[in-house]
Amino acid sequence: MNIHEYQGKELFRKYGVPTPRGIPAFSVDEAIGAAKSLGGPVWVVKAQIHAGGRGKGGGVKLARSVEEVGALAKQMLGMTLVTHQTSPQGRKVRRLLIEEGADIKQELYAALVVDRGLQRVVLMASSEGGMDIEEVAEHHPEKIHKVAIDPAAGLNDAEGEDIARKIGVPAGLVPQARDLFKSLYRCFDECDCSLTEVNPLIVTGDGRVVALDAKLNFDDNALFRHPDIVAMRDLDEEDPAEVEASKFDLNYIQLDGDIGCLVNGAGLAMATMDTIKLFGGSPANFLDVGGGATTEKVTEAFKIMLKNPRLAAILVNIFGGIMKCDVIASGVVAAAKQVGLKVPLVVRLEGTNVDLGKKILADSGLPIISAADMGDAAQKVVAAAKGK
Ligand code: ADP
Ligand code: MG
Repeated sequence: MNIHEYQGKELFRKYGVPTPRGIPAFSVDEAIGAAKSLGGPVWVVKAQIHAGGRGKGGGVKLARSVEEVGALAKQMLGMTLVTHQTSPQGRKVRRLLIEEGADIKQELYAALVVDRGLQRVVLMASSEGGMDIEEVAEHHPEKIHKVAIDPAAGLNDAEGEDIARKIGVPAGLVPQARDLFKSLYRCFDECDCSLTEVNPLIVTGDGRVVALDAKLNFDDNALFRHPDIVAMRDLDEEDPAEVEASKFDLNYIQLDGDIGCLVNGAGLAMATMDTIKLFGGSPANFLDVGGGATTEKVTEAFKIMLKNPRLAAILVNIFGGIMKCDVIASGVVAAAKQVGLKVPLVVRLEGTNVDLGKKILADSGLPIISAADMGDAAQKVVAAAKGK
C-alpha cells in the first residue's frame, strides 16, 4: 500500500524526522486558508498523487503570495498530471499539500529499502538528490552509499554519521543527519514499510537537515497491525478493478494485454501468464481465485475481467485439488451464464473429477473451448483473442 506525501510527512513528524510545515488542501478555499495559517513569504503548492516526478511534470509550484497559492490551487486541482512515474494517461489531482517554501542549500538523497540478498534493511544515501536516482545509480554508482542495518541493534550512531559525511553533509550538521536517519529507520521498522524514500533530503540555508519529499510503501501483509495506516489508503489512487477484486478476496492485478486469466493458485497463475506470452499472447490480468474458488468468487472474477474494454478472450486454468473439477466447472458455467459472456472462453481443467468437470462444460450449451493441457490452452486462447 502507498500513501501520499503529506501523509508520509505526518508519519515522519511522529518519529521526529524534520519536515517543512505543511497543510493538506482539498479545495481552493482550503489551500488559501492553509497558506494564511502557515504564513509567508514563500509557499509551495504540491499535487498529491501516488507517483513521483511531479516537479518536472508541473505538480510542484512556488507561490509568493496567498493569491498566487489560490491561483495555483485552482489550476492544479482537477488537472491530469503526467509524470515519468504515472501511466501515459496520468493521474487526476484531487489533493494538494501547501507547504512553506524551503531555502535549499543542498539536495541529497536517502532511502530505506529491503535488500533480499543481504536479508537486511539497507540505508541508501547520495549527494545527488532531487534528480532521478536511477540515473545516478547507472552513471555514478560510486555516489551511492549504503549501510546494511542490523535488525537487532538498529542503525547505530557511527553508521549514521559515516554515511552523512560520505554524502557531503557539512561537518556541523552531521549529528542532525545522523538523528534523522535513525528516526527514519525507526519509522520504517515500526510501520512495516517496504520502502521509504526521501528525495530530496535537504540542507537549508539556516543549517537544518530536512525531509523535503516523502515516499512510503507498506508491506500489505503487515497492514493488519496498522489500522492508522490503513485509514490513509486513498482508493482514488488505486485501480478500480483491483479495489473491487480485493472486496471478494481475489488476488487481481490489472495488466495491459487482452487475454483474461482466471486461475487458482499464484504459481499456476504466473505459469499461465508465461505460457500465454510464450505463444505470442498478452495477459490482461493476473488473477488468483485462491483455493476455495466458489461460484460466487468465479462470477465476480468474470465480472471484473469483463469490465476491461481491451478484453478479447478468457482462459480459465484450474487445477482441481481441494476444490474438485466438477465444482469448478459448475461455477464457471453458472458464472458465464450470469454475466452473459461475449468473448471466447477457453477452459483447461485438471485434477480430481476432471472427466465429470469436462462433461459439465460440454453439456452446458455454452461455446466453451476445452483444452487438453496448458500449452494447448494457451495456443487456443491466443488464437481466439486474435479472432482466428
Ligand atoms: P517530486 O519528487 O514528485 O518531483 P518533490 O517533493 O521532490 O516532488 O519536489 C520536487 C522539487 O521541488 C524538489 O526537488 C525541490 O527542489 C522543490 N521543492 C519541493 N518542495 C519544496 C519546498 N517546500 N520548498 C522549496 N522547494 C521545494
Ligand atoms: Mg521527490
